[in-house]
Amino acid sequence: MRSHTEARRELERAIGALADSFVIDWRVECASTNSVLTDATPADDGRVHVVVAERQTAGRGRRGRQWLSWDGASLTFSTLWRFAPGAPVPAGLSLVAGIAVARALEQLGVQGVQLKWPNDVLVHGDKLAGILVELLPGRGRTPAAVIGIGINVDLPAHAEVPDQEGVTDLARALQAPPPARSLVLASVLVELQRLLETYAAAGFAALRGAWQQRNAFADLPVRICSDTDTLEGICSGVDDDGALLLRTEAGTRRVLVGDVSLRPLPGAKA
Ligand code: ATP
Repeated sequence: MRSHTEARRELERAIGALADSFVIDWRVECASTNSVLTDATPADDGRVHVVVAERQTAGRGRRGRQWLSWDGASLTFSTLWRFAPGAPVPAGLSLVAGIAVARALEQLGVQGVQLKWPNDVLVHGDKLAGILVELLPGRGRTPAAVIGIGINVDLPAHAEVPDQEGVTDLARALQAPPPARSLVLASVLVELQRLLETYAAAGFAALRGAWQQRNAFADLPVRICSDTDTLEGICSGVDDDGALLLRTEAGTRRVLVGDVSLRPLPGAKA
């Protein structure tokens, strides 16, 4: 992102009228942008706090997994989202973040963007972005969540991601040099802000259609795995609260967002 000052100016220009609603903390390096916000949560000043890192030394995925990034080739950032007091636990939040990333990518010209429940963004079946939502305990404060997003922008040829079949980046998806990372960031932040407002006002039900349109495994056979259980069925979309709907021999089952992973079954290439 060239110099920080230059990148920040570019970001502010791209965010336009919304620039005053964000506080951007741009770091050369940190362990994980999610950890920065969970370990030292900024006081609520009515604005959206964002931490961006040029380099993450310990990027995290769900369930203790790693998110890998490469200098100058990845975009990694987290934002802090506060809920109205008394709001229900926001189960659909990682799906909302997925729609925001998907829309931002589409606006940048990417075709074939798909969402894999609950938290991955794919392009023609290959993973381009990951999302990690972590809830902060209320403890008398406004409940909040940290939404971490990692986007592959222009990965080096030697980049290797273990345990992930297909990986892609913006350069490949666009088949052209990707836009500056500050522009990608601006585009995601603006979408996220817009969608989170809708989510707060009308719940996930208002965004369910936007998620389903991009469901990578719609009507395909999948397996849902947790540490102790597996469940197989046909992925038939998501419910009004973001739960996955699985058609099984025993009827339709709802799978809640939690410590479970979706895996395709043979014949279910996204
Ligand atoms: P789930 O389906 O449970 O979400 P997941 O494999 O997508 O499984 P996440 O926690 O969302 O898990 O993301 C972490 C995983 O993503 C890592 O285990 C790794 O396989 C993969 N990964 C890590 N870095 C990247 C990257 N830069 N691009 C694509 N995939 C990555």
